[in-house]
Amino acid sequence: MAIATLLPATTAFIQRAPRMLIGAEWVEAADGQTMPLRNPATGEQLCVVPRATVDDVDRAVLAARQAFDDSPWSRTRPRERQNLLWKLANLMQRDAELLAQLECLNNGKSAAVAQVMDVQLAIDFLRYMAGWATKIEGSSVEVSVPLMPDQQFHSFIRREAVGVVGAIVAWNFPLLLACWKLGPALATGCTVVLKPADETPLTALKLAELVQEAGYPDGVFNVVTGTGITAGAALNHNPRVDKLTFTGSTAVGKEIGKIAMDSMTRVTLELGGKSPTIVMADADLGSAAAGAASAIFFNQGQVCCAGSRLYVQRKHFDKVVADIAGIANAMKLGSGLDASVDMGPLISARQQERVWRYIEMGRESGATIACGGEQFGPGYFVKPTVIVDVDQQHSLVQEEIFGPVLVAIPFDDEADALRMANDSPYGLGASIWSNDLAAVHRMIPQIKSGSVWVNCHSALDPALPFGGYKMSGVGREMGYAAIEHYTELKSVLIKL
Ligand code: NAD
Repeated sequence: MAIATLLPATTAFIQRAPRMLIGAEWVEAADGQTMPLRNPATGEQLCVVPRATVDDVDRAVLAARQAFDDSPWSRTRPRERQNLLWKLANLMQRDAELLAQLECLNNGKSAAVAQVMDVQLAIDFLRYMAGWATKIEGSSVEVSVPLMPDQQFHSFIRREAVGVVGAIVAWNFPLLLACWKLGPALATGCTVVLKPADETPLTALKLAELVQEAGYPDGVFNVVTGTGITAGAALNHNPRVDKLTFTGSTAVGKEIGKIAMDSMTRVTLELGGKSPTIVMADADLGSAAAGAASAIFFNQGQVCCAGSRLYVQRKHFDKVVADIAGIANAMKLGSGLDASVDMGPLISARQQERVWRYIEMGRESGATIACGGEQFGPGYFVKPTVIVDVDQQHSLVQEEIFGPVLVAIPFDDEADALRMANDSPYGLGASIWSNDLAAVHRMIPQIKSGSVWVNCHSALDPALPFGGYKMSGVGREMGYAAIEHYTELKSVLIKL
C-alpha cells in the first residue's frame, strides 16, 4: 500500500483557509460567511471557504467588465495571449502534484490518477488553446449590395472576443472543467468570473493564484466560491455578463438557459448524460468487457459521458456481464491518497444517498444485482454495481445516476441496439465495440450523440469538440468550436 505523503504546500494551502479572488484582492465574503469543505474519503471537514454573497459576485463581474473594457488586457495582442497561456500551463505543470493532491482531498478521486489525467489534460488543453490565440481569423467578402449598384465596397468579417464570461462548473472534474472554460476565454481575450462547484473550489482557487503569477492583469480571472442558489444565480442574472458557460445537471442548465434567453446572454450548456456502450457479437469480448467496466467505473462513475447503459448482443450477454462483474468485484475501494486503490468515494453524503436510492429502486422492482449493491463508510463509498433484468423504460435506464452503477440489457440485432441506444433523453456520448467496419460505419451516423467512440470510451482530445445532443446540452467545448462560442462575428462594409 503506497499512501501519498501530502506536500507541505498542499497542507499549507488548506490550512490557510483559501479566500476568493476578486480583481486584485483575495477576499472573504462581504458578510464574512463561510462554508465547510469535506474530505469525501473520511467525511471530515477539510477547511472552510467564503460563501460569496450577491454583492461579491457583482464586484467580481464589475472587475471582469473593467478588465475587458478598459485595461491593458483589452489591448493584448494574440502573441501575448498565447505566451501567457503557455506560462500558465507551465506553472500548472510545476505544481501538478499539488493540484492533484488538492483534487484528491477535495473530490475523493485518486491523486495519482488526477495528476496524469485531470491535471495533465487541463495543461494540455491550455497549451492547445494557446495555439488558437494566434490563429483567430475573420474573412474578407466580395459583396454586391444590390441597392447601390454603382458603388465599390470593401467588406470584411471580424471575429471578436465575446466579453465577460460567467463560468459555472460541476464537481466531478473541478480543475479540468474550469480550464475548458478558461482556455478559450483567455485565448480569445475575454475575461472570466468562475463559480466552482460548492463542494470543490480548491483547485479553482489555486488556479487563480497561478493566473496571477503568470502575469495576467487584475480582473481578467476572478473566482467566487459559494452556493449555486446564491452565487451561481447572481452570475446568471448579472447584466454585465456577456456569455454564460455552464457544466452541470440538465435541471440547472435548463434554468440557466431560460435566464440567458431573457437577456440574450450568449450561453453554452454542458449537461448530463446516460451514454450507451454497445457490444456487438463480433467484438473482442475481453477488451469490450474491460472497456465497458472502465467506461462506467472511472471516477466512481461520476463522469458526464460515463458508459452507464450497457447493451450486449444476446449470445454474449451473460459472459460480458460476468466479466465486468469480475472486474468490479476485484476493485479495491479506499482513499484516493492510496495509489493501490481502484475506486474512491463519491463526492458527498448526498450523492451517496442518491446513488443508493437508485440501487434500492432496482432491487424493489425485481432487477438482479449482478455485483456490488453495497455502500459503506466512513466516507461516501458505494461498491461498483452491475444491474441486470431491467426494462429499457425503467428509471435506472432512463435517468442519470452519476455513480458506479451500470445497467445491462441484451439486444438481438443492430437495429435493436440502435433503437435502445437512442431511446434516452440524453445524447452526450456512445461507444460501439466491434471489428465489423461496415456495421460500425452504418451505426455512427444513426447514433444521436455528440461523441461516438469505437473500441474505446470517453477518449477525449483538445482538438475534438465535446458536447451533447438533446438534453445533454447546447454548444461544444474544445476544438475550434470552443473559439467560435467565445467570439462574436462583426460584419463591416466600407463604401469606397
Ligand atoms: P449541478 O447542476 O447541481 O451544479 C453544477 C454547478 O451549478 C455548481 O457550481 C452549482 O453550484 C451550480 N448551480 C446550482 N444551482 C444553480 C443555480 N440555480 N444557478 C446557477 N448555478 C447553480 O450539477 P452537479 O451535481 O454539480 O454536477 C453533476 C452534473 O454535471 C451531472 O448531471 C453531469 O452529467 C454534469 N456534467 C456534465 C459535463 C459535460 O461536459 N456535459 C461534465 C461534467 C459534469
